[in-house]
Amino acid sequence: MRRKVSKSRVERICREILASKKWAKMKAKMGFPKDPTIRPVKFKRLKRSLALAGPHLTINRDYYLRVQNKDLKHTLTHELVHYYLDDNGINESHGKRFKQCCSAMGLNRVYAHEADYKYKFTCTCGWWLKVNRIHFEVHCQKCHKVMVSPTTYAEIKKKGEFTRRLQFQKGKFVTTTYEASPENYVPWNKKVN
Ligand SMILES: [Zn+2]
Ligand SMILES: [Zn+2]
Repeated sequence: MRRKVSKSRVERICREILASKKWAKMKAKMGFPKDPTIRPVKFKRLKRSLALAGPHLTINRDYYLRVQNKDLKHTLTHELVHYYLDDNGINESHGKRFKQCCSAMGLNRVYAHEADYKYKFTCTCGWWLKVNRIHFEVHCQKCHKVMVSPTTYAEIKKKGEFTRRLQFQKGKFVTTTYEASPENYVPWNKKVN
């Protein structure tokens, strides 16, 4: 566990990555000539990301303090790939070329280096959401069904209703029963990362 944040340390690792043989090989493979400019580093408490490649290279402070060197290097590589594509005039976030760069740099999990979410919920239509906490229900942004746990879904199919713990009201939790028609619901497929 690290105790202090250090901008110069991050900059040094970035320079090392850009000077590595792997990086040169990746560049040769991709064919975009410019190396990215190393942006000023900023540490911040980020809720959803480990790092962000913007005008500043923003690093999640809590993550920085607990992360192993190897993982930090992976995260910085991920961000440098963003800058590499940006500085060569390619606008894509995690698209095809981004993934090609990542695999050439030996990063196999594209998103994991940016956000370490605990769970991934997938709808039957293919839409997915990564979260850190299990939500009672998730609205699929693609097919607009409500994704619920397979247990809840089975209940809805059987009884056409289910109970749901609502908010904390007047000092206690209020439980409400809903009528639910199965066609508006879909069981999620949960994967633990
Ligand atoms: Zn990214
Ligand atoms: Zn869906």
